[in-house]
Amino acid sequence: MSVFSVFRTTMAVLGLHMVLLLSGSSVLISAADVDFDAASNAILSPFSGTTVKTTSDPTTSFTTRVNKTTTRPPAITKHLTEKDEEEEGPPEFECPPLGLESLRVKDNQLKASSYKRRGLGPHRGRLNIQSGIEDGDIYDGAWCAQYRDKNQWLEVDARRLTRFTGIILQGRSSIWSWDVVHTYKVQFSNDSVVWKPCMNGTKEAVFEGNQDTETPVLALFNVSTVARFIRINPQTWYQNGTQGDICLRAEVLGCPLPDPNNNYAWLTEPTESRDKLDFRHHNYMEMRKLMKLVHEECPDITRIYSIGKSYKGLKLYVMEISDNPGKHELGEPEFRYVAGMHGNEVLGRELVLNLMQYMCQEYKRENQRIVHLIKETRIHLLPSMNPDGYEIAYKKGSELAGWALGRFSYEGIDMNHNFADLNSVMWTAIELETDRSKLINHYFPIPEMYTSEEAFVASETRAVINWMQNIPFVLSANLHGGELVVTYPYDMTRDWAPREHTPTPDESFFRWLATAYASTNQVMSNPDRRPCHNKDFLRYNNIINGADWHNVPGSMNDFSYLHTNCFEVTVELSCDKFPHASELPTEWENNRESLLVYMEQVHRGIKGVIRDKDTEAGIADAIIKVEDIDHHIRSVADGDYWRLLNPGEYTVTVTAEGYLPSTRTCQVMYDYYPTICDFRLTKIPARKQKEVLPKGKLTKDLQLRLRQLRLRKLRVTTKAINQRRAAAAAKQVKKV
Ligand SMILES: [Zn+2]
Repeated sequence: MSVFSVFRTTMAVLGLHMVLLLSGSSVLISAADVDFDAASNAILSPFSGTTVKTTSDPTTSFTTRVNKTTTRPPAITKHLTEKDEEEEGPPEFECPPLGLESLRVKDNQLKASSYKRRGLGPHRGRLNIQSGIEDGDIYDGAWCAQYRDKNQWLEVDARRLTRFTGIILQGRSSIWSWDVVHTYKVQFSNDSVVWKPCMNGTKEAVFEGNQDTETPVLALFNVSTVARFIRINPQTWYQNGTQGDICLRAEVLGCPLPDPNNNYAWLTEPTESRDKLDFRHHNYMEMRKLMKLVHEECPDITRIYSIGKSYKGLKLYVMEISDNPGKHELGEPEFRYVAGMHGNEVLGRELVLNLMQYMCQEYKRENQRIVHLIKETRIHLLPSMNPDGYEIAYKKGSELAGWALGRFSYEGIDMNHNFADLNSVMWTAIELETDRSKLINHYFPIPEMYTSEEAFVASETRAVINWMQNIPFVLSANLHGGELVVTYPYDMTRDWAPREHTPTPDESFFRWLATAYASTNQVMSNPDRRPCHNKDFLRYNNIINGADWHNVPGSMNDFSYLHTNCFEVTVELSCDKFPHASELPTEWENNRESLLVYMEQVHRGIKGVIRDKDTEAGIADAIIKVEDIDHHIRSVADGDYWRLLNPGEYTVTVTAEGYLPSTRTCQVMYDYYPTICDFRLTKIPARKQKEVLPKGKLTKDLQLRLRQLRLRKLRVTTKAINQRRAAAAAKQVKKV
């Protein structure tokens, strides 16, 4: 989800110790002390730690509670470590949200006494809804009443008898206005004609609303009430002379009552997914435990490893699924899903955990589609790239975390702006270089600056870059939340435009990839769905070029494409960044097919092995050029390569240092398997090499060497930072 809409809320949410630096290409928020830890790619015995018991802390017990607003403690000050077992759980409500935020409650279930204009209608009164940059359009940031008196209300029709237990209230989302409701009353009705007030003993209850526009405030009713309709009735609000309007965003908590004709229906209602998966939110400890269980269930096709640690020392665990775990097999493409780069966008994490369980189960049941996928692909699943951020959001829970809490790394870094900006390097070169043959179009080295110890690069980012080097990924998706759309590179605009269509040379394949996910996702592909926040992506068939949405310099997708062979898109999985646990089975159903179909796309296009004609040895780092596509791919260690392409006929040329180039035609069909296009290259006799070498050859060698050199530097500085941080941590422990 856009950093922009998050950014305006950030300052309220982040601690004051953060310093905001606006420096050239990226927005950085730096914390005072830096405390990095190991970012190695070692295979670990991941669960050597102690046994874990997570204590949940039910904060609500409505029958005994006196009617008062529950205010959660502010910042999380507790440090997260692997040994920290007594974690505070999120607040658990007796009844789930009706789904104003998740859109389970439809627009026509929301009514109001009056509204200022269409863009501020009752259908906008949903928790966490985001306005656009401008106020005044049809996608404004709250329900706002037309009048300013105590008779205004927002009404929710639950459509069946419901035991209402509470309300969560939020102010208006806007850059320009400040509108919050300070206190409010609540009324119930069975027919929306006769209304009865929510009581606190013998008096009508008055609930505390908001003091700022962003923080969701929970109010639990003293006594729950069964009704079909509920009204939120503001009593006092922020009044700035004649300015302040009555505006709010809300969620309603309530348990739907059983159908009176079938007393046991709700108890026997099947879960909303036919798959038997662990549908709940998993914190760090629970995530580890689940991954371990999956590995124990399917030891032959899984392996758990860590790619490094977060700032706070939480490991970045990966589940590998393959018929030969731990090994790259010649010709077998490698795939990855990365979730939770923004810690508060939690659905991706749960879907990836669901996916590993599902694949294990289905493999054992001999589901041929899954067996085939596992045999032909090496799959890597990283459920949580930003575990520190996640833990912060998790403790507030799905309804009270707001829009931005937990998005950033512990140091305040937005990881999707934190990768080296290679786009600028490329575009500057294009502008300055008159000899086009000297330009490179792939495998861009990391800029020197980025490799220094002082570079403000998150430990999580460093770990992922290292991972990208160690494994020859072909395809990936970066799972986010807060919208429903699939975006594809580039994410960065060329001339710092706030938004501008900025295609890669592989535009058509990226559009195909994005479509593969979007068209099989059950919510995105529903033509009747309403837009999440302030942009109607249905008009774009739910796919968009990243830069055409908003400019994101330093994104993981752009880096992946320009620095490695891997193609990557971003999937925005749901309007709600942190769906309530009760939504998870439905979300799995919405995404199961898309997650599988997308992985299968790694088998599109052409692949093969590039060998020495005489020795049959594989040739690494050979360049695979496809005519008319200005982006090359390199072969990996054993000479194997993958070139994702749409169906069609392609002229492919392979060049390698010390060999004569070779060209052939490769035909890509509409099938779910790639065309094999092997190459056998003839060595240039040593004495002839000088004459035959094409111009610009030296530049290319230099490029490869520079790329390796910079990477080595990045690893060295990362190691140094990690050691310093480990020493500092050890010192701290001694003091305590
Ligand atoms: Zn995001």
